Order: sequence, then structure tokens, then C-alpha cells
Amino acid sequence: MLAAHRDNVENRGIDGCEMKRPLRVMKFGGTSVGDSACIARVAEIVRAAACESSVVVVVSAMSGVTNHLIEAANSAEANDQGQVARIFDALREQHEKALAALIRSDESRARLAKSTEEIFAQGERLCEGTYLLRELTPRTLDAVSSLGERLSAPIVAGKLAELGVPSDSIDAGELIVTDSYHGGAAPLMEATRERAQARLSSQLGQGIVPVVTGFIGANAQGVLTTLGRGGSDYSATILGAALDADEVVIWTDVDGVLTADPRLVPDARTIPEISYREAAELAYFGAKVLHPKTLRPIMPAGIPVWIRNSFAPDRAGTKITASGRSNGGGVKALTAIQDVALIAVGGPGIVGLPDVVGRTFSTTAEVRANVLLISQSSSQNDICFIVTATDAKRTVEALRTEFAQDVAHEKVEHITVDPNIAIVAVVGENMHGTPGVAGRTFSALGQQGVNVIAIAQGSSESNISFVVEEKCMKTALLSVHREFGLGAPSAAERTGSLRS
Ligand code: ASP
Ligand code: MG
Repeated sequence: MLAAHRDNVENRGIDGCEMKRPLRVMKFGGTSVGDSACIARVAEIVRAAACESSVVVVVSAMSGVTNHLIEAANSAEANDQGQVARIFDALREQHEKALAALIRSDESRARLAKSTEEIFAQGERLCEGTYLLRELTPRTLDAVSSLGERLSAPIVAGKLAELGVPSDSIDAGELIVTDSYHGGAAPLMEATRERAQARLSSQLGQGIVPVVTGFIGANAQGVLTTLGRGGSDYSATILGAALDADEVVIWTDVDGVLTADPRLVPDARTIPEISYREAAELAYFGAKVLHPKTLRPIMPAGIPVWIRNSFAPDRAGTKITASGRSNGGGVKALTAIQDVALIAVGGPGIVGLPDVVGRTFSTTAEVRANVLLISQSSSQNDICFIVTATDAKRTVEALRTEFAQDVAHEKVEHITVDPNIAIVAVVGENMHGTPGVAGRTFSALGQQGVNVIAIAQGSSESNISFVVEEKCMKTALLSVHREFGLGAPSAAERTGSLRS
């Protein structure tokens, strides 16, 4: 518990009873801090929240910045010094512009400009080292890609201070202790709990709003790590759990978790409340609302997570809770992923070979490929599974090496990869035990002429996933969305409900 924090911030209620200020962790994504106007909006949201509760802010890099930094690191490895310089020039300009627009006080602006410049200089030195060595190690890539958050956090803290909200920017390397897996480090929760409480409790007790860099951690030796792309959501829930927060709010650029990606399904609507499990199933939601690991840290303590729109803070958003709320029918939402590839290992020779499945997946594990879906029919003629597009090449190469002997002896006939596919998933915890969901799904697809390439349903029955050709993905989503009536009520329905 944050003992010091809780004791110090107790307020006296009107009738003299003691009221504790709740603690909120609020994370703002890249688009929410995309430019000076966005950052000003964020600062207003934080100011309002800080009147009612203690707040810890977690920020992403300004949108696009992490991509550019990674590009700079890769260009350095390829010895394209001109490109590195161009990227850093553009990043400098972007951040200077934000500072100039946001910070009125000459003194704070000069101080911030100086610390910003130090971070850029560090980045350039890292890139210099990279092109001298012609080698970009995962550790260096982490150091370079983390610069965006280290730039944005002080700017947000500076803006808050201008609004009269005492705040302090903090490098998450001081709070989040991770293993040493660069590019996708896992938090060590006990150590993180100790560090985060020790570092933040007195600040929170004094009403200071810490503004923490998302995405970043450090291993036990203090070497910087990152939690993986999009990892700031994860940072927020790691800190929420470590600090026993009352809630975590993920502020983003959409209204919450929707029944489907609105770019593909125009009548998709916001779901008011869903369960952890449903949200986890939807983590690869079309609009990528949540980093897939986001909910893990807070699930044991049952801390609710809100998804809200920083561009429309008046809207309620989606609340993610342990139990969720039933919407009556079994299906809550649809999700689709297209940056994926289908890999098949097969041939009649594998029938009954006991170790093919084991070797296939120990190979994917060795290359740390993220396997999203697995399907094998009982004829055992092939095992097919889906990995993200970025993992496909190295997975197939590793499988070809692993099975080289078997291919030579024609036990394994083929190892193929098809990138032109998409996964569509039908999600809802209450589908469990609701008969007919699969039947309705596939007959809706059949009616639209959508060919289903592979199917998987876990025994949890909260997700039916199927693979279709990429070009059929939209039709698949539209037809299943319609079949389960997930869309916004039509004008006729609305009038009907008004009359009744
Ligand atoms: N800036 C990091 C990224 O773009 C982390 C995040 O935004 O969540 O991946
Ligand atoms: Mg994100």
C-alpha cells in the first residue's frame, strides 16, 4: 500500500469524516499527445482529474516519433548518415514547435529546450556508435526508440506546471524493473512494486502529479529496456498494479472498445462495459485499442480499466471489469487482423508422427514468434497456424531448418506461408454455452460467399476465430456484425423503442 500517500492526502469531509483520495493512473497515447493542441487538451484533462484524485500520468511519445527513431537507428546501421540527420532535424523541429506553443515562461522553456537537446544529442551518439559498428543491437535499438517518451514526458509535465498543477517528469527506468529481453521486456512485479512505491509515494502525498515515460523499463542492473511496441498501455497497468491504484484510464483517440473497427464497419458502436477476458480477446482489435498484455497486471487485483477518448472527454468510454456486463446476446464484438501470415507444415507423411506438433511449436517458441491461431484437423494432414507478418520470415526459415531432414526424407512434404489472409474473431464471454453462435456465424459468411480457410475455437468458448482471404475480410465483418445485431440501432428501431 502507498501508506505515506494515503495518509497524507486524507481530506476532511464536510461532516468531519475522513475521505481518502482515490488514485488514478492515466495514460495518454501518441495521438493524444500528437501536437501542442493535443497536449494542451491532455493537460486540461489531468488538471480536472487532479482536483478529485491523486493522478499518475503515463505518456507515449508524440505520434510517429517512435517509428522515426527506429527508422533512424536502422538507417544508422545501413550507414545512411544523411537519413539519420534528416530524421533528427525533423524530430527537433516537431518538439521545439510543441515547446514554443505550450510553454509561456521563458525560463521553463529554456530549461526544457536544454534537456530536450541533451536527449537528441544522446540519440545522435547512439546512432553514431551504430554506424561505426555497422551493428544495431537490440539494446541500442531500445535506447534509441525510448527517446520519444523521454522527450514527451517533460513537455507534458511542463504544461501541467504552467496550468498550476505541480508535476514532475519521471523516467520509468526508475520505477519499472524488467527482465533483460530487449524489445519486449517483461516486468518483475515485486521489484517494481517496491521501486514505484518508494519513488512516488511522497510525491503523491504532496499532491504532485508524476508524469512517467510509457514504454520504458530497466533491468535489475539499470540497463534501459522497452516493453514492446505500443507498450505504454502496459506501463500504465504495471504502475496501476504496483501502486494499488483505484483505476487505470487509457486515453486514446477512439471512444472506447467498439463492436468492430469503424473504418470497416460503419455502424460499429461503443461497448459500455466488457470483461477482462473479452477485452483480452479483443486486444488485437482492428483499431488496436489495447496492447495485448495490458490487462495482465491489474487482473489479480480487479482494478478497472477505462478506455476513453482524449479528443472527446465528455464521452463515457468503455469500462473493463472483472465481470463485464452482459449485453443479452452472446456476441459482444468482432475483431480482425490482417498483418498476419498463415504457415502450414504438412503432407500425408506427418500423419501419426508424434513429434511434429511439438517440434513445430518449440521452433516458433525459439524464434519468439507470436502464434495467434492454431488449427489442425483430425486427419492430421497438416498443422496450420498464424503468426504476425513480421515474424513470418524467420519462423518459416527456422521451421525449414528444423524439418530439413524430414523434408529430405519426404516425411514432411511442405512448409508454406501465405501472407494474403486475415483472421476474424467473434468474441463474447457469454457465447459460452450459447448454442448456435458458430452456426449463425458461418451461415452468414456462406450467404455472402466468403470462403473460410481455417477455424479455431478454444474450449473457453469466448472466441471463435476464422481465417479468410484478406480481400474478404471486410465482407466477413459486415455480415457477422449484421447477423448478431451489433450495430447502432437503425432509425426504425429507435422510433420503435420510443413508441413502446
Ligand atoms: N511509443 C511507443 C510505440 O510507438 C509506445 C506506445 O506508444 O505505446 O510503440
Ligand atoms: Mg498505442
